[in-house]
Amino acid sequence: MCDPEIHEGGCLCGAIRYQTQGEPMRVTLCHCRYCQRATGAATMINANFEAAAFRLTRGTPTVYDHRSEGSGKLLHIHFCARCGTKLYMTFERFPGYVGLYSGSFDDPAWIRPEPGRARQIFLDSARPDAVILAGIDAYGQHATDAEGRPQVAHVFAHPVTVAEGWPPA
Ligand SMILES: [Zn+2]
Ligand SMILES: [Zn+2]
Repeated sequence: MCDPEIHEGGCLCGAIRYQTQGEPMRVTLCHCRYCQRATGAATMINANFEAAAFRLTRGTPTVYDHRSEGSGKLLHIHFCARCGTKLYMTFERFPGYVGLYSGSFDDPAWIRPEPGRARQIFLDSARPDAVILAGIDAYGQHATDAEGRPQVAHVFAHPVTVAEGWPPA
């Protein structure tokens, strides 16, 4: 029995395991300095689900509360205290949603950044060698400002590096 709607993931050491059901509501590729530092990587790829579509199947993560410099609201980062893997975030600003660190899925490739549901944010602080994906809304900062007003997205026809293509002419 293998339900194609169910996807599983977990931490490096296996102490914590989780399942999601269905497609993510949104996929965010974030190039901000917070995400670079928190992940140790160039980009954080976050897959957002309603909390009801997510469940832990083994173990209990430890939580680090981080106050966002931008919004002043708390991000709750759930990680494995044994191996240090970050698994997901919950948000004071967006209760009822879970943001999975997509590299923790057993098959991370199933999280596809598709037009419509995906966006690339904080390109103003991206590494010069990071790649901007084609066809996906790209923003210098957040997709909305502090008052919730939508910002203008740039969409590239071909993939380019940040050094080649940002900010857009
Ligand atoms: Zn672990
Ligand atoms: Zn970020």
